[in-house]
Amino acid sequence: MKRHNHRNKNPKTVVGTRTCFVCKTISPRAHMLRFVGRVGQVVQFDAKEVLPGRGMWLHACKACLEKAIEKRIFYKAAKGTVKIPEDLMQVVEKELQNYPQKQELFFKGAIHE
Ligand SMILES: [Zn+2]
Repeated sequence: MKRHNHRNKNPKTVVGTRTCFVCKTISPRAHMLRFVGRVGQVVQFDAKEVLPGRGMWLHACKACLEKAIEKRIFYKAAKGTVKIPEDLMQVVEKELQNYPQKQELFFKGAIHE
């Protein structure tokens, strides 16, 4: 049986943090959603956080994603014009069904309380 050794557990290195490109707040990676999309290409939600390319991170928060889509903040994050799928919100909502913790954060807006 494994025993936890808390002295060796540094949350910063274990979890890591990311900055939300919408509200510029830093949060644990577990609270973030990763997107990829090069200039001129389609933005993809990378739920598994495995797709190649520079990640664009935003909060698991519906308000942040809405702003990113409506105000085209994805363009800034990608440093150019990217194609934002019309159903990106729905894609994210559907994918998050596999990630209950993020899903809860997403719909509650708990991160910005
Ligand atoms: Zn945010």
